Amino acid sequence: MKASLFAFALLVMVFDADAQASDVGVGGPLPAWKRGELDIHHINTGRGEAQLLILPDGTSLLVDTSGKTEEKPPFSLPTRPDASRAPGEWVARYVQRVLPKPANRIDYVLLTHFHGDHMGAIVPESPRASNGAYRLSGITEIAEHLSIGKVIDRGWPNYDYPTTLSNPTVDNYRKFLDWQSANRGLAVEQFQPGRNDQLVLLRDPKDHPSFEIRNLAANGNVWTGVGTVTRSIFPPIERLAKDDYPIENKLSIAFRVSYGSFDYFTGGDLSSSDEETAFAPAPWKDIETAVARVCGPVEAMKANHHGSWDANSIAFLAALRPRVIVVGTRADGHPAINTWKRMTSQRVWSGPRDIFATNVSPATAATSYDIEKIAKSTQGHVVIRVEQGGASYRVFVLDDSNEEMRVKAVFGAYASN
Ligand SMILES: [Zn+2]
Repeated sequence: MKASLFAFALLVMVFDADAQASDVGVGGPLPAWKRGELDIHHINTGRGEAQLLILPDGTSLLVDTSGKTEEKPPFSLPTRPDASRAPGEWVARYVQRVLPKPANRIDYVLLTHFHGDHMGAIVPESPRASNGAYRLSGITEIAEHLSIGKVIDRGWPNYDYPTTLSNPTVDNYRKFLDWQSANRGLAVEQFQPGRNDQLVLLRDPKDHPSFEIRNLAANGNVWTGVGTVTRSIFPPIERLAKDDYPIENKLSIAFRVSYGSFDYFTGGDLSSSDEETAFAPAPWKDIETAVARVCGPVEAMKANHHGSWDANSIAFLAALRPRVIVVGTRADGHPAINTWKRMTSQRVWSGPRDIFATNVSPATAATSYDIEKIAKSTQGHVVIRVEQGGASYRVFVLDDSNEEMRVKAVFGAYASN
């Protein structure tokens, strides 16, 4: 009897979102992060991805910066909250609002890969930095508002895999790194797959011994699950024809955040097939499944490649079995109809799951079956807040139409397994 009452109480805790919601004040601002909590903010600018992690001791990690893309609608959605500022500046302001005071510095900025919707594209009208040394978009714009401790990317210091990287966006970014290193003490590192000591708690690591960030993959090198050993999923580059080189998305950085029994996966724009050569693709092109298998099941994940059709395969989802999925959208077709079907299918993996999309366009709503009914949210910033120690977590959806950080809805608490 006692056991069943306990089970009933647990059910109420897990599924009665309304009871939880009243505790945290839907309609009011997001309660401030507290020491011991892990916050994962999926910031919606409509123009790409930016995730801010506030780690349990207050260490801050910005994963991608959103930013201008070279593309116009329908390949990108309108800027949120509005077009009066560039996406990178909206992200910087968001970060300043939620970081613990004095909120003037980000410890780590990590770029998953070198595309404009993740780092900010440089276009002819991109303004110059106040120091005159480079132009502003995405990551370079962040540095106008906040100082950055360390930048981690997949290419430093040579930017030559799979071939020499040179375009207006990357060239400008390298000028930015040079200037910030010489004048502001910025540190820069290449992401090292396999390691669990590159992204670390910088303030009080001893207070949170169960916290870990495990580097899973970059440039096609994937952790094996043994020590820090990796293997390359891609063939040696000299064996490939130039037009068969892995595309930028497949080179994305992926990592797993663990806190007690809570696990979270994020992997940029990893994919399982090629957008333009999906007919009988070579096995190595399914990089995301190799990464998911070594990651193992997670409580929550960010969907790869904005929920595009070439990503979040059946094998990928079946390996991660997420309870919570956040889709960071930036265009029509995010998430794609077939990806949406995989995410919602009980045949891919069984059990409940809650799906949150940061921004669903009318075209996507019309084509991705019942997404507005089934998804827990189709508009707004999505914040996963993990309680001290990691045993449970909640999901907050925030109004993205202004900067008031008002809570639209709260889900959970979910128990970590
Ligand atoms: Zn992208």
